[in-house]
Amino acid sequence: MAEESGEEYLFKIVLIGDSAVGKSNLLSRFARDEFDHNSKATIGVEFQTQVLEVDGKEVKAQVWDTAGQERFRAVTSAYYRGAVGALIVYDITRRTTFDSVKRWLDELNTHCDTAVTRMLVGNKRDLESIREVRTEEGTELAEEEGMFFIETSALDSTNVSKAFEIVIRDIYEKVS
Ligand code: GDP
Ligand code: MG
Repeated sequence: MAEESGEEYLFKIVLIGDSAVGKSNLLSRFARDEFDHNSKATIGVEFQTQVLEVDGKEVKAQVWDTAGQERFRAVTSAYYRGAVGALIVYDITRRTTFDSVKRWLDELNTHCDTAVTRMLVGNKRDLESIREVRTEEGTELAEEEGMFFIETSALDSTNVSKAFEIVIRDIYEKVS
């Protein structure tokens, strides 16, 4: 949803990508500046809302996290409904998660129109020594698919706010 009421904007943004790539930790880092070392499949929260200021306007980013349904490839259409932004996350240390990006894009495209702002996110860049996906591969795929691209670390906070802020600003520029 991209709703404007007075000076308020509310943007729904979804997190997608394979299991254990760090989606929930990216959200907890962004929304609460927290990191969880123990992987929990479910955090039990559908979404978290973060308020930001863009060009002096209040923008609410409602960021949706899966409750682990991606394990069963059963992320529902309700999850995608009304989304105006998506972060497609992979883990730079596991190539299979990068290979899955195309499938996630297909799923996104079947549920949302192409105007959705999309950001490809290569997470866990703190684990450089066991990297399996080169930065250039991410750059290339993002260019091919017309997405933004960034590498992040939810562990050490690198680029986490930036990833969300780029998406939010792009959405804002489309609707304002
Ligand atoms: P999700 O299944 O995609 O939501 O992934 P989680 O957020 O649950 O994270 C899966 C595992 O990866 C957990 O053990 C996290 O502690 C770990 N993790 C998440 N992000 C990072 C990161 O940026 N760096 C490192 N080293 N580990 C991470
Ligand atoms: Mg999760």
